[in-house]
Amino acid sequence: MKFALKCSPGQKIEKRSEKVAIIGAGPAGLGAAGYLICRGFQVDVYDKLPEPGGLMIFGIPDYRVPKKNVRNGIKELIELGVNFILRTKVVADEEVHADGDDFTENKVHLENLINNYNAVLIATGTWKSRNLGVPGENLKGVYLALDYLYRIYTSELGYLPKSVIYSTGNKVAVIGAGLTAVDAAIEAQRQGAREVYVLYRRTINEAPAGKMEIQGLLKRGIKFVELVGITEVLGKDYVEAVKLIKMRLGKPDKSGRPAPEPVPGSEYVMEMDNVIAAVGEIPTPPFKDGCCGIKITPHNTIDIDQKHRTTRKGVFAAGDVATGPSLIGKALKNGIDAATAVEEYIIKGGWREV
Ligand SMILES: Cc1cc2nc3c(=O)[nH]c(=O)nc-3n(C[C@H](O)[C@H](O)[C@H](O)COP(=O)(O)OP(=O)(O)OC[C@H]3O[C@@H](n4cnc5c(N)ncnc54)[C@H](O)[C@@H]3O)c2cc1C
Repeated sequence: MKFALKCSPGQKIEKRSEKVAIIGAGPAGLGAAGYLICRGFQVDVYDKLPEPGGLMIFGIPDYRVPKKNVRNGIKELIELGVNFILRTKVVADEEVHADGDDFTENKVHLENLINNYNAVLIATGTWKSRNLGVPGENLKGVYLALDYLYRIYTSELGYLPKSVIYSTGNKVAVIGAGLTAVDAAIEAQRQGAREVYVLYRRTINEAPAGKMEIQGLLKRGIKFVELVGITEVLGKDYVEAVKLIKMRLGKPDKSGRPAPEPVPGSEYVMEMDNVIAAVGEIPTPPFKDGCCGIKITPHNTIDIDQKHRTTRKGVFAAGDVATGPSLIGKALKNGIDAATAVEEYIIKGGWREV
């Protein structure tokens, strides 16, 4: 995978004295690093994980995004002079806790970066799973998809012991129908579950993962149950069952897709050993709203203008922490776009009206 898209082979890069700090080594941060290093800037990339790559290494299976390709692209960035500062979490006065914090050995205050670099680009992604928001979701055996997957991949990569992987019983319900749900269902099966049900409140036609991915699940013997919503997780201490309600499709909602509406009196119960919530991820800026002069939107994304400028001079944001959950290609492009804005700012100055 190529991140240094602006360097042509054999091109001599004229080094500049200005330094840029990038927070987050996912596709957005790597795309930005690739652009800026090719333009001669000094680039330091901070990441809390032990290896660059973000979700491409720690959240997505190899069969979908081969880690070898990602690692080749990162190797090229290192050869070009990008400096990766790993196991280092960027924090503000009030720390934000998210998945992937396990490896933090050092903490750097955001203000230090702002003071010591010509520009800072925040590309910290979406490292928190959305909760189901139903009674019983705190029972043992209910897992959040990103946490469930991250533990498996991190352990398979040899960074954490096998013991961190959550135990998977015989019957598993995965809630949601995005790529995360698809991966969680496949992994649950790989972990030994005999029956895996993907439960979705709309139909296969609206599934965010796309029809092909869902059909792929069916071929593996994973069941896809459409038009069903979860209303409760049942059990004493550990999950024993899920309470479901049938849905029908109504008028389009804000997303443009038909809104799922519960069918009154259609509740039923299915026995389950585990529930995996894959109902979306939440953006994780490295600070809380109200901090540092950088505004956060109601969706928890960082408020940026069309030039990726936040409400704090010299601080930019890109990738899923700015756009909300998206895809690798989009995040990479977004990071490159932000890097062009960083270059313009360093050379010409100026800032948005706040
Ligand atoms: C389970 C799952 C499966 C997916 N599958 C696919 C797929 O198959 N195809 C596809 O195109 N997209 C997929 N996506 C979406 C895709 O992974 C994201 O859109 C993309 O990775 C976003 O890139 P990013 O650079 O914004 O953030 P990320 O890739 O999330 O990278 C952010 C980086 O910031 C670091 N970080 C966070 N906070 C801090 C901090 N405070 N200090 C230092 N470092 C920090 C993290 O460690 C991470 O390395 C998937 C997403 C998930 C969750």
